[in-house]
Amino acid sequence: MKRVGAHVSIAGGIENAPLQAAGIGAKAFALFTKNQRQWRVPELTDASLEAFRKNCSDGGFLPEHILPHDSYLINLGSPEPEKLDRSRNAFFDEMQRAERMGLRMLNFHPGSHLNQIAPEACLRLIAESINMALDRSSGVTAVIENTAGQGSNLGSRFEDLAMLVDLVEDKSRVGVCLDTCHLFAGGYDIRTGEALERMTGEFDRVVGLGYLKAMHLNDAKQPLGSRVDRHACIGKGEIGIEAFACIMRHPLFDEMPLVLETPDSDGWEEEIRMLYRLAGQDFSTPSAF
Ligand SMILES: [Zn+2]
Ligand SMILES: [Zn+2]
Repeated sequence: MKRVGAHVSIAGGIENAPLQAAGIGAKAFALFTKNQRQWRVPELTDASLEAFRKNCSDGGFLPEHILPHDSYLINLGSPEPEKLDRSRNAFFDEMQRAERMGLRMLNFHPGSHLNQIAPEACLRLIAESINMALDRSSGVTAVIENTAGQGSNLGSRFEDLAMLVDLVEDKSRVGVCLDTCHLFAGGYDIRTGEALERMTGEFDRVVGLGYLKAMHLNDAKQPLGSRVDRHACIGKGEIGIEAFACIMRHPLFDEMPLVLETPDSDGWEEEIRMLYRLAGQDFSTPSAF
């Protein structure tokens, strides 16, 4: 079964995220574990955690269908020691929050070299950051997201992702989330069934399909290889509907979170409905919970 959802809001508390997800017919969802624009936020309260767990269970969401995303302030490969330290602490804090929420994954963008250090040195710092967080936690898998390769952001090439996975000591707690817009912006064509097969084949050769834990479903505003991270609504961008139809029919993407980060949140319910239609899956099918 396909599990499509969206990156929903935590306004009013994390416990509202599963309610919003259930309300739009999602069978998976993503969320921030805290206000992503602030470094320091209050601890999650027991009442909030309990309500979150109850709302997840009522909505039929299992931990493996929920993909928390870390704060955009974090740069696990920062060339500046003070910022690197702050990022590592914040990342570990987010791992702990995910753990307390009963979740099993934390999705994050690898990091940026800011043109101050070599890309390879930056990748080594990122891997060291991941190892440090995994060492001090348990139960949560670090899920590296591919990027569009904008600016000095690393992780648009599968070779970057492979190097990170390779340097992570605990291979059982590292994974990858592929964002379709970032793939396309990074130069990986997925516009036809054949192109999608070529991409997954290359990912398998370079990284290994066993590491693929989730997808972000976004169309792209800019052409192939633009290295510009601008999401478009499904079927309304340069990637086009055929790619998403192929993904929805492909068994490789069964049972993993397929998360929309498209610009129009009012349209998410309709986009989810359309994607399930492409999968030949009934929109109203209750989750297997
Ligand atoms: Zn994404
Ligand atoms: Zn993006």
